[in-house]
Amino acid sequence: MDRLVIDDLELKGKRVLTRVDFNVPIADGKVGDDTRIRAALPTINKVISDGGRLILMSHLGRPKGKPDSKFSLKPVAEHLAGLLEKPVVMAADCVGDSVEKQVSKLQDGEVLLLENVRFHKEETSNEPEFAKQLADHGEVFINDAFGTAHRAHASTVGVAKILKEAAAGYLLQSEVETLTKMLESPEKPYVVILGGAKVADKLQVIRNIITKVSAILVGGGMAYTFLKARGTEIGDSLLDDNSIATAHNAMVVADNPHPEKRLDFVLPLDHTVASSPKAPDFQTSPNGGIASGAMGVDIGPKTIAAFREKILTAKSIFWNGPMGIFENENFATGTIEVAKAVAEATGNGAFSVIGGGDSVAALEKAGVKESISHVSTGGGASLEFMAGIDLPGINALSKAKKKPEVAAQ
Ligand code: ADP
Ligand code: MG
Repeated sequence: MDRLVIDDLELKGKRVLTRVDFNVPIADGKVGDDTRIRAALPTINKVISDGGRLILMSHLGRPKGKPDSKFSLKPVAEHLAGLLEKPVVMAADCVGDSVEKQVSKLQDGEVLLLENVRFHKEETSNEPEFAKQLADHGEVFINDAFGTAHRAHASTVGVAKILKEAAAGYLLQSEVETLTKMLESPEKPYVVILGGAKVADKLQVIRNIITKVSAILVGGGMAYTFLKARGTEIGDSLLDDNSIATAHNAMVVADNPHPEKRLDFVLPLDHTVASSPKAPDFQTSPNGGIASGAMGVDIGPKTIAAFREKILTAKSIFWNGPMGIFENENFATGTIEVAKAVAEATGNGAFSVIGGGDSVAALEKAGVKESISHVSTGGGASLEFMAGIDLPGINALSKAKKKPEVAAQ
């Protein structure tokens, strides 16, 4: 990447202020799924082993800009200490005199975790004075929180602009490098699978990648806006009225008059339909249309077969968004079958990337998370990256130093 990275930094004896994404589920004062904590370990271990003085900061949940013990990072400090097998000192706040004292006492290789930065409303509004107080804790800054890279907050963008050296941690670097490859140099055939509910966001992704892919498979709630744009009856299915015209345009581009520029744009051929997302009974509607009184809640068997066939031809796969209302067991089949097909294609040598909170949950449900090449830790961030939007958290990092030219022999 064209930004400073952790390996460019001199860490020994330095106060290393590091933004991580420790926004993990907490229940009964204990950390639930610790995937995000583990994802930050390569960066954390590097700072410790190089003899840096590590000051970690993160947000957790949405505490409304004031302290709320429900959203304390204390359970995370305990959990992290267990993973590192060394003490992690927990600060009572992220700024102020007592925290500054704790910071100044840190020795080489020691770890301090600041309390939730969102206990201050100045975090999300990126107040310069608050950012300065955070930045003063460190001599160098590392951002390893890809999940919040699309937000211009004090702990992501504010401090990066103040400290002279602001670098990407290993996690952020690997996310950026992988997603860049999916945008700029994917091996073909390249199959993109999109689903879920956020139609407008995902249309931006389609617009940005449409000239680079071999096929786009659209399922889930967003498919109905496309079917509507084609003039198909969609009954009471999810519809984003404001996106119909853009959806139509995307399909016109896909159907390019020049055969070499044409790509497969595959919409559901059949559906599982029900009277509501929670309805106990459901049926398969055997063709494209859905009658009023019913809504599409999952892709049907013909669609699963068609998607599977395409997926198995791919050398690169990007997937975001479930194929149906997978939270309901009855409507999870399409999503689980697509997850299995992506895993199978990966086993056959394809490179697969999956982003999105619900998509990752669906992977776990299908039991194939370990078979995917890259599971992104950022839902919104990965989607914005794929849509070609500059992420403020990355833009705020220092520019990479020019490598010295190798002198001619
Ligand atoms: P991600 O978090 O992976 O980016 P989204 O948030 O865009 O995905 O979409 C996930 C949501 O989409 C899920 O809550 C799921 O129930 C919903 N969804 C999927 N298919 C349908 C459908 N056919 N109708 C309504 N909602 C759907
Ligand atoms: Mg979601």
